[in-house]
This record gives sequence, structure tokens and C-alpha cells, in this order.
Amino acid sequence: MSQTAPTKPARPARGRLFFANPGPTNIPDSILRAVSQGTVDFMSPAFLELYDHCMAGVKRVLKTEQHVFFYTASGHGAWEASLVNVLSPGDTLLIIETGYFSLGWAEMAEALGIKVETVKADWRTGVDFAAVEAALAADTTHRIKAVGVVHNETATGVALPIQKVRAALDATKHPALFMADTISSLGSFDFRMDEWGIDVVVGGSQKGLMLPTGMSFTGVSNKALEVHKSSTMPKHYMNWSAMIARRHKSFIGTVPILFFNGLKESLRLLEEEGLDNVFARHHRLAEATRRAVRTWSGNQGPQLFCQDSSRLSDSVTAILMPDGHNAEDVRKIAFERFNVSLGGGLGPLGGKVFRIGHMGDLNEPMILGTLASVEMALSIAGVPHAKGGVDSAMEYLATT
Ligand code: PLP
Repeated sequence: MSQTAPTKPARPARGRLFFANPGPTNIPDSILRAVSQGTVDFMSPAFLELYDHCMAGVKRVLKTEQHVFFYTASGHGAWEASLVNVLSPGDTLLIIETGYFSLGWAEMAEALGIKVETVKADWRTGVDFAAVEAALAADTTHRIKAVGVVHNETATGVALPIQKVRAALDATKHPALFMADTISSLGSFDFRMDEWGIDVVVGGSQKGLMLPTGMSFTGVSNKALEVHKSSTMPKHYMNWSAMIARRHKSFIGTVPILFFNGLKESLRLLEEEGLDNVFARHHRLAEATRRAVRTWSGNQGPQLFCQDSSRLSDSVTAILMPDGHNAEDVRKIAFERFNVSLGGGLGPLGGKVFRIGHMGDLNEPMILGTLASVEMALSIAGVPHAKGGVDSAMEYLATT
């Protein structure tokens, strides 16, 4: 008797979805409960108190005493706000190449009529900061109005010591603004807006802050706010001057109230654990992941995409497949057989790379479950690798 091909996986997924994408990330139950509260008037004193509480908390996480503006938008909205508020059509933005997301930010700038110059870099190692300094030194007429860098390139798993951008600006006495994207680093590893002299910071809700996608923000220095006053770029919803005139000093329209219920709980969780402990946890889970990958890389198996050991991201690991093997096969098996969701390769890395997100609300058994499922998926997909990746991760976690 002939059988019809099943239209869905033979075994329906049971148990928790192991969500190992590098954003959005797992939302803790207490945040889910917080965002499920009933709505209130966003002009009420109670909400204003909650709002002020969250504003102060986000400033502590950004490590800034300057300004923050929120947007009801994903990270792209904050990217756009960073550009339209301080630049004018025809201005030059120097973008430091990191990968898919530096390209995306540059593409947006070009669409807005900004001239983009790029400091090229190898995606597997990240930029040589001497090249950034050279580009700034060569710009004797100060054509470059801002330098933009992605702190943690989510597509490659390479994290940069972006303090070096400030060092390059200072060494060349260049007045350009320093803009940094901290979307996949904030709340996962060290980031210091004021100490590192960053003028415009782009952050999002759905990664280290463990919130749903849909709210983003910019940290803004006093210098950037001054520069903003002479920006002629058309803008309305994200116009900082218009926001300052509003009661919430953000949000031209209705305030996304429930996000602030969630943000309050997110800040409570981060501060209860302590930011340094949060960073240490991320480092431990990232290191366990890397140890697993290094073991798998035996027998010509998959390897760490990041080739600079001092720049390995503590929030995401990108894993490069051996030639002739498609990362999408591994992802598909992990998802359909084991209910584990992994990140795929972005842009030119599609099919070549898969990514394990280890940011946000995560502990040892969660990362071990993911690693074990990846190891099984590699076997099932017939990808060459050395066995024992999970053992390497367990040994590390048990002894540190
Ligand atoms: N920048 C980085 C580093 C990101 O990882 C992402 C998204 O993953 C973005 C920008 C874009 O943010 P969103 O997808 O929230 O618009």
C-alpha cells in the first residue's frame, strides 16, 4: 500500500522550543508576565514614574549620563534616527566594515542621501584600527562628519574593541561624531558609552535586554545633540528636537506602554544578577560553545568563523561549514527533529554559516541542549566533524 508523504514532521514538536537564534532571544517568563499587564494612560503620573525609572535604568546599562531617545521600531528605526538626526544630505559617513550589518547601516545612509566611505575589513578578523586612523588622518578638510561602527557583528560573531575608534579620532584630532551599534552587545558584554566617548549609540530591545522586538533607542551625547541642531535631513517621527519638546522626551505618537512594563522587569533582572555577572555568564556560555566548535572542527569539520581569538563574540558564535556542506541542512534537521532554532548565514554567508546565539536569558543546560542537538544534526546531515564537542563544553562548564 502506498503512503502519502507527510506534510509536517512525523513527530510534532513537544517540550520547549530551544531558541538559539542571535536575536530575538528568549523572553524570561517574568518579562512575559510583565508585558501582559493591562494598559494605562501614558500621560498618567503612574506611567511617567515607570517611564522615568526605565530611562534611568537604560542609562545605567548604556553607562551614560547624557541623553536617551526611544522609538517604537526595531533596530532599523534607531539606525535611521542615528543618521537623520546628526547628518545632512551630502554629508560623509565613514563606516567601518564588519559584515552584513555594517553593510545594512551603510545602505540606509546612502538611501538617505549621505555619502558613505568604508574602511574595508576581512569579515573573519575585523578591521585593523590603524586603517581607521589613517582614513581620519587623510581627511584634513574634515569632510567626514561621523564614523559608524557595529560593536558586535551579529552575522559573523566578531566583536570589536571599539574604544579604538575614539583613540583614532583623538589621535588625529578629528571632530567627527563617533556612532556605535550596540544592538547585539548591550546587556551581553562590556559597553560604556561615556567612557568610550561615543556620541550616538544604537540599541534594540530584543537581544541582551530580553524583550520582544519592537522598541529601540539611541544614546546621544551632548556634542551630538549640538550637532543635531544644524542637521537639515528631513525627519519627523524620530526628530530629537521634537521629542525633547514632548512630555516623555521621546515618542511623537502613542507610547508603547507594555514595553516599559517589560523593560522595568528586564532592568530588574539585569541589576539583580549584576551587569558584571551577566557578562561573566555570557562569556562562560560563549566559551563552552567555542570549545564544542573547536572539537567539531577536527576531521575537517565546521569551524569558528571568527579567526581572531581576541575578538570572539560573547553573544553569538558563527560556525563555518566545511566546503560542500550546506548550513541550512543542519538548521533544518535541528529544528525539525529537535525543536532547536539556530540562526542562519546572512547575505553572502547564506548556506555557509549557521549561528548559535548565546545571549540573554540562558543557562548551562540550555546551551548544552543546543550543542547536543547541533552535534546530532551534524551526524544526521553527514557533515564531517570530530565527536565530543558537547563533552568539551561540559568539561569546561563543570570546571569553571
Ligand atoms: N544591527 C545589528 C548588529 C543587528 O544584529 C541587527 C539585527 O539583528 C540590526 C542592526 C537590525 O536590527 P532590527 O532587526 O531590530 O531592525
